[in-house]
Amino acid sequence: DGEEVPYDPEQLRKIKEHPCYSKEACHKFGRMHLAVAPKCNIQCNYCVRDYDCVNESRPGVCSKVLNPQEAVELVREVMDKFPYIKVIGIAGPGDPLANEETFETLKLLKEEFPTPIKCLSTNGLMLPESIDKLVEYDVGNITVTLNAVDPEIGEKIYSFVEWDGKKLHGREAAEKLLSQQLKGIEMAVANKMLVKINTVYIPGINDHHIVDIAKTVGEMGVFTFNLIPVIPQYKFKDITPPTGKEKKEMQDACLPYVRQMRHCKRCRSDAIGLLGEDVQDCIFKRE
Ligand code: SF4
Ligand code: SF4
Repeated sequence: DGEEVPYDPEQLRKIKEHPCYSKEACHKFGRMHLAVAPKCNIQCNYCVRDYDCVNESRPGVCSKVLNPQEAVELVREVMDKFPYIKVIGIAGPGDPLANEETFETLKLLKEEFPTPIKCLSTNGLMLPESIDKLVEYDVGNITVTLNAVDPEIGEKIYSFVEWDGKKLHGREAAEKLLSQQLKGIEMAVANKMLVKINTVYIPGINDHHIVDIAKTVGEMGVFTFNLIPVIPQYKFKDITPPTGKEKKEMQDACLPYVRQMRHCKRCRSDAIGLLGEDVQDCIFKRE
């Protein structure tokens, strides 16, 4: 769906071989997530921090955190056994850009595994400051979770944002986060990264605003938009998530503005395999 925009051959590879960026690829190619990033720098009102970052994952158990060397050893083992894995991603369990280990891992990966697509998901707070390093380490695909493009709505979604050693709250926190997210998305697009936006659909909080988000990011040149129903927990534990029908209707309303990803499986931050599959339980012993 969506309009065809011209991409260069390297970008096309990063679309065609990435199971989350291409519906066709998702049957053929897999991804592996490296859980090297435990810390987070914001607090979303739908997140209980004992789990994986719900911006990108489904809560359940927290992925076992690996250090960068352990992560690279895992990549060695997986790449050898599963050549259909084309993407190495970092998605948590916290915010990848809030953890120095993310960059250490990417550096090691660039040296040893230059070919697989490098992918990362973030809340966007540190994206502008991280762009140069992400470019250096060939991160071609970035997911930013953007739940509002109006700080009046954003302040209902975030309890705090850590900035410059201080905890910001309320409107101030929402404004800082939003300005960083928009700046980061713009810089990522300018650097030819393929940007996916995750938006959490939170009835009563941002539902009337989701089409505005889609419009804003569509105009900014992002590649795709992934609408995620809220998981009712923490401060949003009493919110009823949207039904499948409501989700589809919202995606249809957003489609004129930006391509829609409709096959997200809400993977764990340590998932390995095709989407919806996790081969690591069969191959590796979990502790
Ligand atoms: Fe939780 Fe992710 Fe939000 Fe951080 S960014 S509070 S880990 S959902
Ligand atoms: Fe792809 Fe969704 Fe899984 Fe992320 S959570 S790797 S977008 S299928």
